[in-house]
Amino acid sequence: MSETKSTCCYCGVGCGLIVEHDAGQITGVRGDPDHPANFGRLCTKGATLHLTVAPDTRSQRAHTPELRTDRTAARQPTDWATALDHVADRFAAIIKAHGPDAVAFYGSGQWLTEDYYVFNKLAKGLIGTNNLDTNSRLCMSSAVAGYKLSLGADAPPCSYTDIDATDCLFIAGSNTAFAHPIVFRRIEAAREANPDMKLVVVDPRRTDTAEAADLHLPLLPGTDIALFNAMLHVMLWEGWLNRDYIAAHTEGFDALKRLVREYTPAMAAAVCGVPKRDIEQAAEWFATRPATLSMYCQGLNQYASGTHKNAALINLHLATGQIGRPGAGPFSLTGQPNAMGGREVGALANLMSGHRDMSDPAHRAEVARLWGVPEVPATPGKPAVELFEALKNGEIKAVWIAATNPAQSLPDQAMVHAALEAAELVVVQDTYRHTETAAYADVLLPASGWGEKEGTVTNSERRISRTHAAVPPLGEARHDWEIACDFARRLGPRIGKGDLAYQLFGFDSVEAVWREHRESTRGRDLDITGLSYAKLDADGPQQWPFPDGASTGRARLYEDGVFPTPSGKARFVATDYVVTAESPSARYPLHLITGRLRDQWHSMTRTGLVPRLYNHEPEPQLHMHAEDLARRDLADGDIVRVRSRQGTVVLKVIASDTVRQGQSFLPMHWGGNTMAGTLGINALTPSATDPTSKQPELKHAAIQVEKLPAG
Ligand code: SF4
Repeated sequence: MSETKSTCCYCGVGCGLIVEHDAGQITGVRGDPDHPANFGRLCTKGATLHLTVAPDTRSQRAHTPELRTDRTAARQPTDWATALDHVADRFAAIIKAHGPDAVAFYGSGQWLTEDYYVFNKLAKGLIGTNNLDTNSRLCMSSAVAGYKLSLGADAPPCSYTDIDATDCLFIAGSNTAFAHPIVFRRIEAAREANPDMKLVVVDPRRTDTAEAADLHLPLLPGTDIALFNAMLHVMLWEGWLNRDYIAAHTEGFDALKRLVREYTPAMAAAVCGVPKRDIEQAAEWFATRPATLSMYCQGLNQYASGTHKNAALINLHLATGQIGRPGAGPFSLTGQPNAMGGREVGALANLMSGHRDMSDPAHRAEVARLWGVPEVPATPGKPAVELFEALKNGEIKAVWIAATNPAQSLPDQAMVHAALEAAELVVVQDTYRHTETAAYADVLLPASGWGEKEGTVTNSERRISRTHAAVPPLGEARHDWEIACDFARRLGPRIGKGDLAYQLFGFDSVEAVWREHRESTRGRDLDITGLSYAKLDADGPQQWPFPDGASTGRARLYEDGVFPTPSGKARFVATDYVVTAESPSARYPLHLITGRLRDQWHSMTRTGLVPRLYNHEPEPQLHMHAEDLARRDLADGDIVRVRSRQGTVVLKVIASDTVRQGQSFLPMHWGGNTMAGTLGINALTPSATDPTSKQPELKHAAIQVEKLPAG
């Protein structure tokens, strides 16, 4: 048996693994005791990763290219050259007839940084379209926008070690116990070591995380900004602000001070549905404990007000000086294993390589020079929801989807499925072939998966880890970056850019891609020019920035109080509370909150292959308060039709004391059956998006529930 160090491919905690393998087959997995994210611990998902690639999953794996030229026929196995030439012919014809913005790429936080880099260069450098977005749009684009708005750069300023140093942990919109289990174990250990540490949890539901809190604020969905503004009101009134920090390191406080005068605790208590005294208590602990760390995730991000929710929470840190010190700061948890890598590479429709700004001509010229292309496009591409709307209305003709399952994960599923039906060409590049999205593929490209890939990932705390291949790809599967390079060299001559394609995509190894990416960060806030594969292998995972000549990365940012804004000061954002995109009404009287289960991941493409993981909750059930069930003459286990303004699903209902009256909860993991024409949970969620981040409001919808006759 052999062992290879790698990383977990699920959440943004970024745990290190030791993969056990024998004769080309992965046989087991255990935590890497040397990895600074997890020190050997793994959650149930990570600990069962080897079962997602076990021999009995092979029928679910994509292992040879498949192609169909007739939509009414089934795809047939083919060879790589035929598949990629077909896609290159179709892409070239569409680009010639309709321009580069008529094609699009939709990738994933599952990609390694090197994969992102090559696809980004393919879309923006060779083809000349910014139509490259990823499923990271669904999980952290509001955190990106919030950091940029308030602090001037997309850089989480904290580290996991801040958990050990904090005196008050303020968790907002995150069921950390389920979604980031190893971080939660670190929190539990820190509380044991420091019994005085306070844990405040802001969440509409009484989740396992909320259950552990010293103070749980079960606010009404979407009312976070009212809560945060009221906490600031209390801090102002009580004199708990850090006036010196505000004067020296921030700007815009007067406007915010005027705004929060209206947000009395009594007013916020009415808006949020939580006791006034709890708002005051939360404000006191946040402001007066020696160090306060906030952690937040989808409960802030996945709302049409997500950017301002982030900014309103960061306001509290700036007003109290709870930032840039051990145990203090606003810490956004990333949902996916390498959403951070995508941000570094600029692999979203509005981002650019190395945290550059697409609207800045000098930055565009820098990227063009780095890539060796005449120019890169200035107009932002279509973010996820708009991309699929454009596919539906024919503005985009062809889409290439990689390592993600939008036919389950995007909101307003009826629209998404109609878009995939309407597309002239759907290319799906994935490790598995059983997803709802793969059913629409005209061309299926088998990609290598976890345990088979070399490269790097960056976790929530800006820590870059190496992933190593333990076994070769299954069958004819190839690495994502290699597929992109091969395709680019085939497409180039067809669009009059043959020489350029060979010049741009001549990478002879994944490390060559890494070196080019590394160079693109030189002089930027995320500079990693002091790192190499050899250094990461020798010294272990490192945090950025890590410029040439540095001996270590940076655990904490903004310790000097200087921020990457034109003035060097952080910005207060005066923002009012806004209601959710959908409000309950007489017709749709219940709030629906979506969320995650402990033992499932995203659309269950992998975790759904592991029977052991089903024991936690084997089917989707609508969690409702007992009073709401009684009012509808419903009992546990009844089958109900759940209807929102977007769509309908049919499933079981269950009484739950984790939701308040008037609210309900559904786990987001289940899709429908594309072949049978049924849709999953996201049939219910609206496509409303945040105006800045373009992140959709996947967390909330207004619904009605109707009992169906038995049988
Ligand atoms: Fe994987 Fe996240 Fe679990 Fe760690 S906490 S083992 S990264 S799923």
